[in-house]
Amino acid sequence: MEWMPSRRQRWFDAPCHLCRLDTVDPDGLCPDCRREWRAALGRPRCRGCGLILAGDGADGKTCAACVGKPSAFEGVIAAVDLDPSVRALVHRLKYRQDFSVVPLLQATLVEAVRADGAVGDIDVLVPMPLHPRQRRRRGFNQSWLLADGVARATGLPLLRRGVRRVRDTGSLTALSARERRRTLKGAFAVDGTVPRRVAIIDDVLTTGASARALAAALRQAGAASVSVWALARTP
Ligand SMILES: [Zn+2]
Ligand SMILES: [Zn+2]
Repeated sequence: MEWMPSRRQRWFDAPCHLCRLDTVDPDGLCPDCRREWRAALGRPRCRGCGLILAGDGADGKTCAACVGKPSAFEGVIAAVDLDPSVRALVHRLKYRQDFSVVPLLQATLVEAVRADGAVGDIDVLVPMPLHPRQRRRRGFNQSWLLADGVARATGLPLLRRGVRRVRDTGSLTALSARERRRTLKGAFAVDGTVPRRVAIIDDVLTTGASARALAAALRQAGAASVSVWALARTP
């Protein structure tokens, strides 16, 4: 089928995801945007909350707000901040079904996970579940797409069933941290038992309330340690 465009030709015709100039990059970034993207990816972040470290924290790994505090998670990885360009990419995927951004978003999270060296500490990946109603509305779960990329790149297995969102909480965007906690109590259910060391895969980490509620359900189902690997952290 010679007439079909090769993947490379298709990339060549596609504009850069960020500045819309032509690019041949397989992830869809032009060289200038790639440089900026890489710089954003390399920022050291707090293990407890995923925020960029501003040179504080006794061990160079934890921010002043998190140091000495018990964390709900073994470790938090956030690849990039949810800045306007990242937010635009995530919205293109979630609300406009633009799947052309998926390889870039997957590669971004994969790179952060590799740089962290956390792969060996995890037995299974658990994508943040959507409520079935929400999943039907959107047609797909963006966390599944991210988790798929991480699973393929790292060889870690995906927990494909048994982790469910049983309460449709709607959007939590307008809620305070306390309201989110209250709304999310009992929002997740886990059938059976799960492996000991779990990494939750999420697209955006804001207060971490959803991940904490899911982590509690996973611990009840046998997880000894729960980490969160998110594409983006709300700064
Ligand atoms: Zn560009
Ligand atoms: Zn922190």
